[in-house]
Amino acid sequence: MSQTPLKLFNSLTRQLEEFQPIHPGEARVYSCGPTVYNYPHIGNMRAYVFADVLGRTLSFKGYKLTHVINITDVGHLTDDADAGEDKMEKMAAARAQSIWDIARHYTEAYWADVKALNIRQPAKWTIATDYIDEMIRFAADIADKHCYELDSGLYFDVSTVADYGRLARAQTEEGEGRIEAVEGKRNAADFAIWRKTPPGETRQMEWDSPWGRGAPGWHLECSVMSGAVLGFPFDIHTGGIDHREIHHPNEIAQNQAHCCTNGLDVAANSGANIWMHNNFLVERSGKMSKSAGEFLRLQLLIDKGYHPLAYRLMCLQAHYRSELEFSWEGLGAALVRLKRMVIGVQQLRNRTGGEVDARILMQAQFVLAAFDERMSDDLNTPDALISLEQAITSKKAPGSLGLYLVEEMDKVFGLNLLELTRADLRIRPKAATITEAEIEAVLAQRKQARADKDFARSDRLRDELAAQGVEVMDGDPLGWDWKLG
Ligand code: AMP
Ligand code: ZN
Repeated sequence: MSQTPLKLFNSLTRQLEEFQPIHPGEARVYSCGPTVYNYPHIGNMRAYVFADVLGRTLSFKGYKLTHVINITDVGHLTDDADAGEDKMEKMAAARAQSIWDIARHYTEAYWADVKALNIRQPAKWTIATDYIDEMIRFAADIADKHCYELDSGLYFDVSTVADYGRLARAQTEEGEGRIEAVEGKRNAADFAIWRKTPPGETRQMEWDSPWGRGAPGWHLECSVMSGAVLGFPFDIHTGGIDHREIHHPNEIAQNQAHCCTNGLDVAANSGANIWMHNNFLVERSGKMSKSAGEFLRLQLLIDKGYHPLAYRLMCLQAHYRSELEFSWEGLGAALVRLKRMVIGVQQLRNRTGGEVDARILMQAQFVLAAFDERMSDDLNTPDALISLEQAITSKKAPGSLGLYLVEEMDKVFGLNLLELTRADLRIRPKAATITEAEIEAVLAQRKQARADKDFARSDRLRDELAAQGVEVMDGDPLGWDWKLG
């Protein structure tokens, strides 16, 4: 199949650019990973669905992908202005647990969400605390020319590199939302790359360094881990759009200091050729905030009975650079769309026979080419889903060909369409006590009652099920038969 060149939106240039791999045939991608002080919310997971779709698209287009996602288990402060507490230390103190236990628990919870959303395993998960020596070396390399020491730590002087803040389109001195929270900083946007433990205090996580005992800054971690594993410059760096303002400009400044200090009109000087950012998942009632008690975790969706891949489809229905509003109705609609796809795939399976002649093969190539074109247009998943649905619903081609097309496209969508069954997608809240076998048994009795024209008994059985939260769906166009409310 002839391929359309892949165009991606580079936040650094604010333009669509053709992907030109630095190493021929390869794609090296780094994604900022979670800070494991709490469960990820579904907005966080949108960032990884996006990075996964990017990686899958690069693989689909034949590039050998090396994807790295980090796990931040130290150094991410509650406040971007270097004045807050370490999120991990804070949670550990609140729970009276060790940071290592907190990190392990929430890393595993994050990985469970990764698995449930069918996000492919990256080539490497880099754990920040595994790279402390490399971080100290990196900081020592740039310290003389680019940093200065205050009582609280080692700070990066953003005036020592060209074009600081270009990614954010912010002024150096009046950086967006920046507060000069640490006394003695030379520029408001200067940031800590090593935070000293205050005298008389001990932290659960601290290491010796040339600047005293302490912990690395969050921005330093990503520069070090991305460069250590992928080598500078690498191809693509991803993260949520909030990182475009502070975290990534700071990573870029460190990378410039490490490599060359030159200007960002040459993208590679930033450490990566392309910087990509997913927009936010938003929710009006504030349920996305981790500080607001119960928040929107993937597990909450699952507990309410929604298959997690319905959430994945919900993400794919929006372009990654558009804001996406979460609602239960929207999730329900995505679930119904996924059900229709799964039923369509089943029908393709049932439609055996039929000749795959030259004309049909051409049509298939045509559908795949349209799909490729849509994905190559800055990962236009909403439009590419239409190609998928065309392949599923086409009545002309033999089922085997339709299945082949679904298989190819699902390499990118990752909706597991060839494995999912209708029963997997049934809404099944965790709180329900009645089992499926019990429901099916009552329904079988009801079917018999109807066959016997005993409608009173049939209605009684339906009401019995309703009392246990089971809605019988007679005549449901999707053939769903029943659902748990
Ligand atoms: P954090 O654990 O806070 O570092 O966030 C992990 C990832 O989720 C980062 O790439 C963030 O930019 C991203 N992110 C945070 N909130 C949202 C949201 N509401 N929607 C989409 N991405 C988000
Ligand atoms: Zn990062």
